[in-house]
Amino acid sequence: MIQPMPFYGGIDLGGTKIQAVILDDNNDVLGSARRPTPTSGGPADVAAEMAIALRDAAKAAEVEPAALAGVGVGSPGTIDGGSVTSARNLPGWEGTFPLARTLQDELGCEVTLGNDVQVASEAEFRLGAGRLYSSLLVVSWGTGVGGGLILDRKPWRGRGGAGEIGHVVVEINGARCTCGRRGCMEAYAGRAAMEAHVRKLHEQRGRKTDLFKLMKEHDRTRLTSGIWARALEHGDKLAIQVIDRAVSALGAGIASAVNVLDLEGVIITGGLGIRLGHPYAKQIAAAMQPHLFIDSRPPHVHVAALGDLGGATGAALLVEHDREQALSA
Ligand SMILES: [Zn+2]
Repeated sequence: MIQPMPFYGGIDLGGTKIQAVILDDNNDVLGSARRPTPTSGGPADVAAEMAIALRDAAKAAEVEPAALAGVGVGSPGTIDGGSVTSARNLPGWEGTFPLARTLQDELGCEVTLGNDVQVASEAEFRLGAGRLYSSLLVVSWGTGVGGGLILDRKPWRGRGGAGEIGHVVVEINGARCTCGRRGCMEAYAGRAAMEAHVRKLHEQRGRKTDLFKLMKEHDRTRLTSGIWARALEHGDKLAIQVIDRAVSALGAGIASAVNVLDLEGVIITGGLGIRLGHPYAKQIAAAMQPHLFIDSRPPHVHVAALGDLGGATGAALLVEHDREQALSA
């Protein structure tokens, strides 16, 4: 009997948007859908939106969710089996929520959870801009700054907490970070920190900028990657200054990681990284250069090849992992 080709679901749970994809056995995208992440309510409301996004993607791929081989989820916060704890940037998610079971009941198929940046990193390594390298740092430049490591062709998670490139210190006693410490790279380069900084310069020090005007015109409640990109295109001086500051911090932080690990490749992903694209990846590479101990052979710096779908694609690969483990068991 010929088995039908299996299909896999993937959901990337971000602070701004929920992205869902359906992949076939060759990892080709058959359908995708996107929903804004709820900004109020709690984990149950977020899970309900995730289920809608997955159903929409399944509809586009002409497959029933219950017929999927499984659904993988890339989530922020601490993942423990099927639960997610303290997912920052998501509404009311300080505690623990049984996300896998909730989605399983809703969708009628197996659900596997993974760390959002890690799954996106593995997707770039297996299918994207990292395919050529055996060692890799993937930097997610978005609301916060996260990282994923591939060392000797294998994901490196340390004791579970590896890859937190956003919290390398780029300035002793520097700006306050959302983690409560000072001088972290994220305190300069995270979109949330950049927004707080630019708001202070604008409202308290009277610095001129069109960022907030653009935000209102485009009906946004925060400075999204698209708003930053537009302000830069308009030559907004304050936006350029704050982005330059972020690029300097990224350069110093990433170069420090390269000095420790001597990586072959660096891939820039995340909302800002993807929206600003190649010209800014080049700027980050230039900002790294003065900090590289071995400056004669810098790592290659790329923008994520899978773009906006990298996180959801990597999440779908979690299901494949499950399947490979089941086959080898
Ligand atoms: Zn920090």
